[in-house]
Amino acid sequence: MGVPTLGCACAVCSSTEPHDRRLRPSVLLRWKENAAGGDGERTVIIDTGPDFREQALRERVTHVDAVFYTHAHADHILGMDDLRPLSFIAERRGGPIPLYADAAAAKVLEKVFAYTFSRDATYPTRARVQLMPLPDRATLHGVEFVRIPLLHGEQPIAGFRFGRAAYLTDVSAIPETSFALLEGIEVLVLSALRHTPHPSHATLKQSVAWAERIGARQTWFTHIAHDLGHAETNRALPDRIQLAYDGLSVPVTL
Ligand SMILES: [Zn+2]
Ligand SMILES: [Zn+2]
Repeated sequence: MGVPTLGCACAVCSSTEPHDRRLRPSVLLRWKENAAGGDGERTVIIDTGPDFREQALRERVTHVDAVFYTHAHADHILGMDDLRPLSFIAERRGGPIPLYADAAAAKVLEKVFAYTFSRDATYPTRARVQLMPLPDRATLHGVEFVRIPLLHGEQPIAGFRFGRAAYLTDVSAIPETSFALLEGIEVLVLSALRHTPHPSHATLKQSVAWAERIGARQTWFTHIAHDLGHAETNRALPDRIQLAYDGLSVPVTL
């Protein structure tokens, strides 16, 4: 919902600590592709939530090579249309921005953004984007993205591993076979909503247990509700498992 949460005056929502202000979660992965022309800088985004534009401005995003979607809830997709100016740049460079989404997420994206995706869409300045099926493994500009099957309540969704890092959000259960795909992870970004149980999100306690089992050198929690204050929650967590915050930048081995 973002923090402050609309209509709420709790301690975290009224906190003046900048780390207690949370936009909707998203990840930007940036790397240099040595063999590439130009400056070789590559940018891949995971999820374009309602705050995508603000986040892209903050991180000075000037081009996007691809987007991966975890699932198609509003807080993960509603910024898709703000790819438009970047998609015009991508088109001039050679083609539309590929959007990797599983069948369920693609169906919602096609419906929500019918003026972009429908076969008879004629809106002249629609986003130059192309929905692509989400494979188990995709290599983009030299980096392999591995789909990590997860459950979000009843709904199967996707997490992603890239090199020695992984991004797993909106998780309520991690299938046993997915733990094997996470072996050797050094940096883990994992959702942890709040203390009270939720039908489709893990509690902080559950996420700590998974983080310990996966055993990354550093785990960052994301998708945090207003129940969890940044400073006090982090004081109660071990150093290697901490709440992330907006704008956090972490080096990862790809
Ligand atoms: Zn969700
Ligand atoms: Zn979500």
